[in-house]
Amino acid sequence: MRESEERYQHLVHMLPDGLIVVLEDNIVFANQAMLTMLGISNFDDIIGDPINKFIHPEFMERFPAMINYLILEANPSTFTYYELLRLDQQVIEVEMRAVAVKFDGKNAVQLIIHDITKQKRMEASLLEKEYLYKSLMENVVAGVFVGLRDKIVYANPYLAEMYGYTVEEMYAISINDLMDQDEINTHKSKILRGMGIGLSQFPIKSKGIKKDGSRIYLEGNSTVIMFNGELSLLGTVQDVTPKREKEKLLMENAKLYQKIIKFVPEPIVMSDHGIVLYANKLALEVLGIESEAKIIGTSVFEFIHQSHHALTLEKMHLIMSTDEATPFEERVLIRTDGKLLDVEVSSIRINNYLGKDVMLSVIRDLTDRKRSEEVLIRSEKLSAIGQLAAGVAHEIRNPLTALKGFTQLLSSKYPENPHYFSIMANEIDRITLIVNEFMTLAKPHFANYRSEPLEPILQSVLSLLETQAILINVELKVCFDHTRPSIFCNVDQLKQVFLNIIKNALEAMPQGGEVVVTVASLEDGFAHIRIIDGGPGIPEELISKIGEPFLTTKEKGTGLGIMISNRIIEAHKGTLQISSVMNEGTVVEIMLPVEDQLTIGLG
Ligand code: ADP
Ligand code: MG
Repeated sequence: MRESEERYQHLVHMLPDGLIVVLEDNIVFANQAMLTMLGISNFDDIIGDPINKFIHPEFMERFPAMINYLILEANPSTFTYYELLRLDQQVIEVEMRAVAVKFDGKNAVQLIIHDITKQKRMEASLLEKEYLYKSLMENVVAGVFVGLRDKIVYANPYLAEMYGYTVEEMYAISINDLMDQDEINTHKSKILRGMGIGLSQFPIKSKGIKKDGSRIYLEGNSTVIMFNGELSLLGTVQDVTPKREKEKLLMENAKLYQKIIKFVPEPIVMSDHGIVLYANKLALEVLGIESEAKIIGTSVFEFIHQSHHALTLEKMHLIMSTDEATPFEERVLIRTDGKLLDVEVSSIRINNYLGKDVMLSVIRDLTDRKRSEEVLIRSEKLSAIGQLAAGVAHEIRNPLTALKGFTQLLSSKYPENPHYFSIMANEIDRITLIVNEFMTLAKPHFANYRSEPLEPILQSVLSLLETQAILINVELKVCFDHTRPSIFCNVDQLKQVFLNIIKNALEAMPQGGEVVVTVASLEDGFAHIRIIDGGPGIPEELISKIGEPFLTTKEKGTGLGIMISNRIIEAHKGTLQISSVMNEGTVVEIMLPVEDQLTIGLG
């Protein structure tokens, strides 16, 4: 008996639950666990104490009834929830079982007490956490869902609202109703592939189908999680439809922009940090590129000659920091066929093109201008040669006179061969003509200027040409108005001009007709001299070129007449204009300042 009593005591003290024996409301036994639970260090501090001392006042009243109930129930697994007071007055929550026992031969109650404070606290915190999560999900401004197979097993109200459903409706429908099957498939395969290489986060960028059938653009993130023991997808998404729409609008604006510059008759390139965003038709032509697609996305430096890279880069920074357009600057471009191209480029910053600040560059092909510069240089050379020629011509003229004289002499001496002499005389005439024209190439001298009435000058020229006109059956008419102007001029040179122009008119009418010369001085202070013929006219493509040296359509022409006339008229501060209608005739109008209007500064 004693042995088993000792073993029992030992066992009781080892129990993790508290054990207490109450006899007539007083504690007559307690185990170690009980002492620990109540914060008591010594058995003497509890044995003999009333049990009420350790019961929470709120539970005190119910205590006897509870004990009776538990004993009557006689089922050790029945327990009740109770709150006790520790010695330090802290409340502990417990589960309590009770059995009837004998103590010293009297009826006593043995209470087995399990401290559930910690567990309760944990439960509470779990509940709290769950609540926290729940309210987080409900209030977060993003759509949150858990998808399991083809169902939504969790959706927050924000997501439901995004789709136009209620949360309950979301649970009822299939994922197919929320997203196109294609989108689902691509997303699924992306996730499976990703998981294969150890990824667990997957960005979402897809279109959703709303309850009313319209589309929304979603962007967000998803994670693979375990839910109810199955792999499922937890995702958070945002409705980016407005953003998308704004992007679309920007895109449309950009398209409009492109449309506008597409047909601008200047090559234009738009770029962002040196990357081509757009190039219009002419730019493609200049660079020798067949299609827009081939240039978009390439670096502008591919088309700029190496030697201009650094400068271009520097300018790019400058352009992007101001609103001013840069002045045109020369660059060398490399076409796709490898040819180098001289161009001028001016650039300006364009704000908000596809939401960005970009650079618009206008290119000017300099090839044509370079060529015309060359022509200019050539004609400058020509005029230098012309002046030289004038000097030489002077030296030639005298020997020519001698040659002509002796030819005539010889022809009368050898009458048997008149043919040869006439050829010689004609050729000498021709040389004389050219030499004379060359001489006038030299700049007219101011020294020879004086005021002269126009009428006699013209008359002398007309009488010179009369014979030729009669020969080809042309009637030469002249018509002066009442003003009879005087011109401050070099008479010989003016004669030369009228001679050239009227000769051209006659030469244009080998079949005969009428050449009219009119003179009128007008309010504008100029004498207007018009030489009007009824010849074939001058073709349009030729008219702009007339006046270039040696340009002639005549077998025996020199192509110097109009050039020299132009020079002379220019030196007289006048103008010479040719207008012509094909098959109707040509009008050459010469305007010369009348003398009294003339001020100093000629020459
Ligand atoms: P040339 O008379 O020696 O040919 P010009 O300089 O006087 O040289 O004239 C240049 C060219 O201009 C002529 O060859 C001719 O083709 C054209 N031209 C000039 N005047 C006329 C005109 N009145 N009618 C038609 N063509 C003309
Ligand atoms: Mg001529």
